[in-house]
Amino acid sequence: MGIGRRGFIKLAGLTAAAGVLGKKPIDVFANDELPEVLETGEPLVGKRWAMVIDMKKCRQKEGCTDCITACHSVHNVPDFGNPKDEIKWIWKDHFKHAFAEHEHEYVSDDIKHSETLLLCNHCDNAPCVRVCPTQATWQREDGIVMMDMHRCIGCRYCLVACPYGSRSFNWRDPKPFIEEPNPDFPTRMRGVVEKCNFCAERLAKGLIPACVEACKEKSIIFGDLEYLESEVREQLRSNFSIRRKPGLGTKPEIYYIV
Ligand code: SF4
Ligand code: SF4
Repeated sequence: MGIGRRGFIKLAGLTAAAGVLGKKPIDVFANDELPEVLETGEPLVGKRWAMVIDMKKCRQKEGCTDCITACHSVHNVPDFGNPKDEIKWIWKDHFKHAFAEHEHEYVSDDIKHSETLLLCNHCDNAPCVRVCPTQATWQREDGIVMMDMHRCIGCRYCLVACPYGSRSFNWRDPKPFIEEPNPDFPTRMRGVVEKCNFCAERLAKGLIPACVEACKEKSIIFGDLEYLESEVREQLRSNFSIRRKPGLGTKPEIYYIV
């Protein structure tokens, strides 16, 4: 895996420093630890970040978009008001579209038509990274697949290579379509690709991803796969989970408890 580039040198430095000091990854989902994490502002360090989405819990609150609203507002994702130009970092789609390979005529209608939360899978073997001619998209050592908008030439090879529809292209200038711009996160320009960054900028400040924080049902669990005691590992040990299109060999790191 590649290492972070210019814009993330500071973050990489902080992460490396914490690693050298032998810090244990912080179990971001031990609730009683959370306030401390937020107070210290120290970067969250992980060897392999991953996410587990509990679809049963998520389904309980039909129509909820708290995680999407939180993500899109902190990351200045524009709302063009039409699907043709849509930019999305995290979104919902029917189970039968998200998991076509698990769908059959006897799957209950409830499940088939239930909405599944989707985002970039931060794949271990990411085809988007391999095809980018300018290395505008690359993978950090902790598994996060990043985007450098300044290097993106808008060729959209990555968009075609991603089998999950996780990338969006700015066909228009997004700035006028951001309702309340967040001054702490950069806006993009016409002609570049964007997607979920696992909230790298928040992890660097000791904050958990915005979608995780916003989900009151605690349907989204984020943590370090390499840390045996992490909540993600515990959830994967104690529940049956699936990933999207595993047969493609991309090794997605978003797991779904069905
Ligand atoms: S989900 Fe798509 S954009 Fe995300 S790492 Fe995998 S191939 Fe790349
Ligand atoms: S991890 Fe962060 S960037 Fe990715 S979907 Fe959640 S809030 Fe958005």
